[in-house]
Amino acid sequence: MTTTSELAGFASVLTAEFGPSVVSTDPRTIRRVSADWARLSPILMEKIPPGRFLADVAVRPTSPEQIPALLALAYEYDVPVTPRGAGTGNYGQATPFSGGVLLDLRGLDKVVDVGDGYVRTQPGARLTVVDREVRAAGADLWMFPSTKGSSLGGFIGGGSAGTGTIEHGTTADGWVEELVIAPCDGRGSVFAVSGSDALAYIHAYGVTGIITELTVRTAEAREWVSFYASFDSYDAAVEVHRALPELPVLPRLASADEPPLVANLPAPVDLDPSRISLRIILEASTVASVSRLVTAAGGTVVAVLEGYGQTDRLSTMSYNHPIFFLQQSGYPCFHLEVGGMPLWDDPDAVRSVYPNSRIHLELGVNGPIGMLVADYESEERVLAGFAELESLGIGIHSPHQWNVDRHVAQILETVPRTDPKGLLNPGKLNA
Ligand SMILES: Cc1cc2nc3c(=O)[nH]c(=O)nc-3n(C[C@H](O)[C@H](O)[C@H](O)COP(=O)(O)OP(=O)(O)OC[C@H]3O[C@@H](n4cnc5c(N)ncnc54)[C@H](O)[C@@H]3O)c2cc1C
Repeated sequence: MTTTSELAGFASVLTAEFGPSVVSTDPRTIRRVSADWARLSPILMEKIPPGRFLADVAVRPTSPEQIPALLALAYEYDVPVTPRGAGTGNYGQATPFSGGVLLDLRGLDKVVDVGDGYVRTQPGARLTVVDREVRAAGADLWMFPSTKGSSLGGFIGGGSAGTGTIEHGTTADGWVEELVIAPCDGRGSVFAVSGSDALAYIHAYGVTGIITELTVRTAEAREWVSFYASFDSYDAAVEVHRALPELPVLPRLASADEPPLVANLPAPVDLDPSRISLRIILEASTVASVSRLVTAAGGTVVAVLEGYGQTDRLSTMSYNHPIFFLQQSGYPCFHLEVGGMPLWDDPDAVRSVYPNSRIHLELGVNGPIGMLVADYESEERVLAGFAELESLGIGIHSPHQWNVDRHVAQILETVPRTDPKGLLNPGKLNA
């Protein structure tokens, strides 16, 4: 189906099926839900600016059963469907390149069950709410992104790492216990996947099916505190950063920033913008050890803040957020997601690849990860640096393209069964 009148007819079919409160063709609604946070990339802003690709109809289900019912109709009428949680994805992942239906999952926001070692939710449940309920039950979520207002379905569908990653890895490293998937195969039914079978649906942008319910693992709750330190050199901050994996209880997050990133961080304590800032979510019993490490490295302990709410504030200055804050100040920069020992061992070589570049450091299960932030000149200049970084031993994940790029073989193998007509989030797989 491609013509405007056919799509208008399809919107009427949907309205008759689900009601006018679920189905919208209002241009302002369509425009709002057809864009995500691709604006973090100057390259994507040129290629897919907000408004260039618009859905024809927005559907905001109020019950999970409406998802397979919608997909059955989309299959029958050959209409593309692009799922969307909170729309905070960075790569245009939820942009409806082929129009059709934008499936807005924010209405399915219930935490279904918090049990021993797990939480089950609807796809649109916000991580702030999920985490609050999990903590109230005496447990910790394994992880959540710095965009904690985003949805659990969107985090599994398009995110990768965050607070908790030092101990638990990425969203694809055993966190997911079970996903309930609605395929687009004309049958209007759902099925459950777990274990390695779930990998075809994690960070898959919905191309293999829509997640209608999720069960993820939780751990016993710990007492977390927010630890702020500062250093006069990157190497001194690294001395502490690289010692953190040796602590008896691993930190939940360990972010470090160089000026000028520090100047724009909305911290609850005074951060000296001329110094390297190291911010850690520590388990309370490890604070004394880390304080000693900081002093031994010639650094200063700036503050130790108690209270779980403070750790959330620290978390919102991690991962992509320092780049967002820098861009808010008007600075024309781009970033790359990077990982590898040279971030600790040879930062000058890493910085030398791009003009005026800075490192935002995080800690992963296998050592340093983070963002390389540099002045933006052109797409060609950005791409030209990839081979040089790789030759240094730096792994790269580019936030300047929208193709599905993890578990691709498994996803390609799954799609013919779950989306034989290629209607789910078209343009994201091998585009
Ligand atoms: C400033 C900033 C900081 C960020 N920090 C982090 C971070 O720390 N870690 C991180 O991993 N990411 C981060 N992100 C990216 C993003 O915010 C997260 O991945 C977030 O969890 C995505 O959730 P969402 O609800 O906004 O998903 P959306 O953006 O709505 O969707 C993400 C992808 O999943 C698909 N999708 C959504 N729902 C479903 C579903 N139910 N079934 C199947 N597919 C679905 C969408 O089509 C899209 O491809 C950051 C983004 C910004 C702008």
